[in-house]
Amino acid sequence: MTFDVDVLRKDFPILGRTVDGGARLVYLDSGATTQKPLQVLDAERDFYLTHNAAVHRGAHQLAGEATEAYEGARHTVARFVGAADDEIVFTKNTTEGINLVAYALGNARRVGPGDRIVVTEMEHHANLVPWQQLAERTGATLDWFGLTDDGRLDLTRAGELIDERTKVLAVGHQSNVLGTVNPVRELADRAHAFGALVVVDGAQSVPHRPVGVRELGADFLAFSGHKMLGPSGIGVLWGRRELLADLPPFLTGGSMIEVVEMDRTTFLPPPQRFEAGVPMTAQAVGLAAAVDYLEALGMAEVAAHEDALTARALELLAEVPGVRIVGPRDVTDRGAAVSFTVDGIHPHDVGQVLDERGVAVRVGHHCARPIVRRYGIPATTRATFYVYNTLDEVDALVDGVRAAQKYFGG
Ligand code: PMP
Repeated sequence: MTFDVDVLRKDFPILGRTVDGGARLVYLDSGATTQKPLQVLDAERDFYLTHNAAVHRGAHQLAGEATEAYEGARHTVARFVGAADDEIVFTKNTTEGINLVAYALGNARRVGPGDRIVVTEMEHHANLVPWQQLAERTGATLDWFGLTDDGRLDLTRAGELIDERTKVLAVGHQSNVLGTVNPVRELADRAHAFGALVVVDGAQSVPHRPVGVRELGADFLAFSGHKMLGPSGIGVLWGRRELLADLPPFLTGGSMIEVVEMDRTTFLPPPQRFEAGVPMTAQAVGLAAAVDYLEALGMAEVAAHEDALTARALELLAEVPGVRIVGPRDVTDRGAAVSFTVDGIHPHDVGQVLDERGVAVRVGHHCARPIVRRYGIPATTRATFYVYNTLDEVDALVDGVRAAQKYFGG
């Protein structure tokens, strides 16, 4: 398969629908969740139609087939990010993956009173609140990298923030609001020099650009299936083998135990130790199909396509008087999340005018409230692009913004 957006759009029937009023759907909300190609839907349906059973331990053939499908999906995901199979833990989503690490580190007493946990001001709440909670439970201090006016990390305090007190650095690879791609490798190397663990929120990077866990240089990486053409209800936590092996479980119960006595239990090694209960097997199969789909397109091609869309959006929006981009204004080290404000018009009103024209965007703080506070705005309008978006759709966004200005007399 080569990257031809007109061809691949046929795999996404939902993109052919209209919204109330008859306008053609222009879906620019993939940062929240992506649409699913037929190949993913078929893979899930096929699993339920022909192989469905609870994985592991079953004495019958279907259980064996289901286990094979589930472990096969793990292998596909591992290959996609350059990891070993037993370093891949299936979770519900990014949020659960980060909580797993935060709780396990707390339970393992790897963080304690006087220690420091470092995050950034651009984190999604999923990579902020679990660390606030861990700090509260353990008596550690939470500190953070602030932001520059153009939406990048202000690294001037790096020497102060990352030292021997720092136990965890939790950083987003790509911001879901600003689009900024953060220098994870550089930060990870610095954190490792002081023995800190590095947890990366890959929810917005893994779907959009080639990400290899070895090159990334982190210790944990969490991402979500539903943001990369896969089903909802399945996510991934990658962790370095020796670190996972050292961590106590997060959720406990069936499927993750070795021997259970009435008063104590021993646990299986990773990844099973972190997958309590019957897992989401069909969803894992669907995620593997999504990975196959992305690999067939080529992640470098995916990134290049998104760069072209982002460049067009940044260029055209810059030409509209009163529109302000919140985040980097050029495509260097940034991804396909374009947030903006329109002078004199509340983002919700911009969103509504766009919706009436079929253009689906998101408005609000995008689960990263500290960002909008940093820039002194109540909210932004955010367009996010993915493999199936076209340059025409970017134009539809910008036309819609101009229409909103006309409507509200801007
Ligand atoms: N981090 C980032 C950067 C995100 O964009 C999101 C989803 N908006 C999340 C974490 C949380 O993902 P999920 O809701 O799938 O757990």
